[in-house]
Amino acid sequence: MLELKNVSKSFGDNTVLDDVDLQVREGETTVILGPSGSGKSTLLRVMDLLEVPESGSLRINEDGVEFGSTLSDSRIRSIRKHSAMVFQGYNLFPNQSVLKNVSLPPVLNGKLSAAEAESRARELLGKVGLGDRLNEYPDNLSGGQQQRVAIARVLAIAPDYLLFDEPTSALDPELEAEVIKVLVDLAEEKRSLVVVTHNIQFAKKVADRVLFLDNGSIGFDGSPDEFFASSNERIRRYLTTFE
Ligand code: ADP
Ligand code: MG
Repeated sequence: MLELKNVSKSFGDNTVLDDVDLQVREGETTVILGPSGSGKSTLLRVMDLLEVPESGSLRINEDGVEFGSTLSDSRIRSIRKHSAMVFQGYNLFPNQSVLKNVSLPPVLNGKLSAAEAESRARELLGKVGLGDRLNEYPDNLSGGQQQRVAIARVLAIAPDYLLFDEPTSALDPELEAEVIKVLVDLAEEKRSLVVVTHNIQFAKKVADRVLFLDNGSIGFDGSPDEFFASSNERIRRYLTTFE
């Protein structure tokens, strides 16, 4: 389980997360919805300690930290081993082949030998439908293909929790569908996924849980059925923007 308790994060006098409590269960797909600027990216970045909040605590499986005092780099690194993030942009190494983009990270972080990493990378690239593009460079791929390389890359480091920040928002609908298919496969394998998205169909189809973030607070935490049937005025207003 990944758990945040009483987490508050401000930028200057802008309170972006306001006393947030949540739990993400292992083996579930948790979808985070909410209007632009509500704090979704910041929340995900806190889970991966790319942002350190002023107060509260983070617990991931058997590991945890209390915020409020300085965290050592080694402490941050040890917590971050449990999760990995896929961003809206693909953040691939432009001068490395598709295969190297996926095989290098577990070698660099000492998890696998070069031979093991290469064999794992081939398998994962096959899984995301790119087994025939191993020697291409990222620039020669479509956005959807690049994002699938990015997903294979985080799978290669085998984190407990996979965090996705609007992984399809830079893509045309057709390319978005390719990436969503990979996410659906991961959800069906019962990976632990946290997905920030505006893709309502994805949330309806695969979410085990929906969290609705509104102005830095959790405005809903429950099943997708309850969320989409909610009569809460704030949630209705958010959902009408997709109609
Ligand atoms: P969302 O992902 O829901 O659109 P964000 O978490 O990106 O929301 O942003 C929430 C608020 O925090 C916004 O007002 C944004 O301007 C502010 N914010 C986010 N990151 C920073 C930062 N690094 N410095 C200052 N303000 C930030
Ligand atoms: Mg965002």
